[in-house]
Amino acid sequence: MGNPKAFLEIHRQEAGYRPVHDRIHDFGEVEQTLNTRERKLQASRCMDCGVPFCHWACPLGNKAPEWNDALYKGDWELAYRLLSTTNPFPEFTGRICPALCEKACVLNRYNHEPTTNREDEAAITEMAFQEGFIQPRQDIVRNGKSVAVIGAGPAGLAAANDLNLKGYTVVVFEKNEAAGGLLRYGIPNFKLNKALIDRRIRLLEAEGIEFRYGECIESVELLSKEYAAVVVATGTPTARDLNIPGRELKGVHLALELLSQQNRVLAGMEFSKAERITAKDKDVLVIGGGDTGSDCIGTAHRQGCKSVTQIEIMPRPVEGPDDPQSPWPNWPRTLKTTSSHEEGCTRRWNINTLEFLGKDGKLTGVKVQEIDWQPNPEGGRPIMVEKGKPEIIKAELVLLAMGFLKPEHPQYAKNVFVCGDAANGASLVVRALSSGLQTAVLVDNYIRSTVNQ
Ligand SMILES: Cc1cc2nc3c(=O)[nH]c(=O)nc-3n(C[C@H](O)[C@H](O)[C@H](O)COP(=O)(O)OP(=O)(O)OC[C@H]3O[C@@H](n4cnc5c(N)ncnc54)[C@H](O)[C@@H]3O)c2cc1C
Ligand code: SF4
Repeated sequence: MGNPKAFLEIHRQEAGYRPVHDRIHDFGEVEQTLNTRERKLQASRCMDCGVPFCHWACPLGNKAPEWNDALYKGDWELAYRLLSTTNPFPEFTGRICPALCEKACVLNRYNHEPTTNREDEAAITEMAFQEGFIQPRQDIVRNGKSVAVIGAGPAGLAAANDLNLKGYTVVVFEKNEAAGGLLRYGIPNFKLNKALIDRRIRLLEAEGIEFRYGECIESVELLSKEYAAVVVATGTPTARDLNIPGRELKGVHLALELLSQQNRVLAGMEFSKAERITAKDKDVLVIGGGDTGSDCIGTAHRQGCKSVTQIEIMPRPVEGPDDPQSPWPNWPRTLKTTSSHEEGCTRRWNINTLEFLGKDGKLTGVKVQEIDWQPNPEGGRPIMVEKGKPEIIKAELVLLAMGFLKPEHPQYAKNVFVCGDAANGASLVVRALSSGLQTAVLVDNYIRSTVNQ
């Protein structure tokens, strides 16, 4: 630990976002960066406490106290080396991780000013790229075994990277035209610049991983006969839909239809006027109060919407830093206000959606109803009761952001391993990375056991 008193003398300082009037007109990353002096001061606040809950809370087991100490001392190379022992792609988590570690930080318990681990992570990684500390590994010894990975999202990439470094010949099959999964075709560019994915993929290619794009694998069984093992990292392809009257109207879309198309447009892809989904000059209604909904809000603003409303069927979460239902060091399920919410949005809770209304096949509004949740006398899930009269929210574009269905998988052959969201249901990038790494170990153990038989 560099400075034992720093947490008493230096306050938490976040780099913050670009001003709304500036950022709202482009898709550049909204988050800013601190200068090197300020970043090192922030790192100095880490107390290296006896029981580092940050380490426990991070699904990757990131050793924040160790790399924060190296960062404070200005040893960026050591900081990156420590960081990369547990996190294969910290440039992603450093930008879009909700930072489970920071909520679990002892300083969060002490005065709600936890260390800035996520931003520190991004800063360490950018410096490592800039200074050339990250170079393709040339010392990988091949073991003569091949592994197929299906899906180039974070889980597939983490598994592919680890298996490649262990000496396997790795082929990644990806149905899209580029790698990244939801990093590329879900998360908006204003949260994650896609050039960062390209930079990492170039490195993985230089280290020997083969990527085959535009290949949608229909038969896992066939691959499992061709390769020593197969990793299925295909995510959660099915979004939860809302099959109520009017669902067929033009203007009702799943959130990812908008988000993935917008990211593709920014990558240079062209869409006909009929195909293009845009919020320009429209009143937009986002159904679903989570992070995907928030990404729709930010995207709608940048496309030039007239207004955005976000509705959620569940009650408004508690406000403030602490959640009595999920106390420290657990993740608090408190009200979250994102950079997209700050850009302007009407947010409502306890609202049920009854019907999409339209004229000449086009959406004009949505009939909704305020509801309440009452305790179930028989226990279990609370009961939804209607309150007041139904009302109509004017909207020409509706985005359904209500989560994803957990995929079901058949009984695969013994050499097939499922990881990431495909195995656990929709979650977080950091959990997908962790799952990919754990799966790589299982694959390695399995192949070694078959060789030794
Ligand atoms: C809009 C949105 C925003 C999000 N924002 C955040 C965030 O800010 N922070 C965060 O931590 N998490 C966020 N998440 C969640 C996070 O993106 C996912 O948990 C994570 O990407 C899951 O990784 P994965 O590799 O398991 O799956 P995915 O990222 O879904 O990747 C699966 C890949 O498999 C490919 N594939 C599927 N089927 C086949 C097939 N048959 N053949 C070949 N390829 C196939 C897909 O094309 C895709 O590239 C967000 C999710 C969404 C939808
Ligand atoms: S990956 Fe997320 S939880 Fe883990 S140390 Fe980084 S910011 Fe914290």
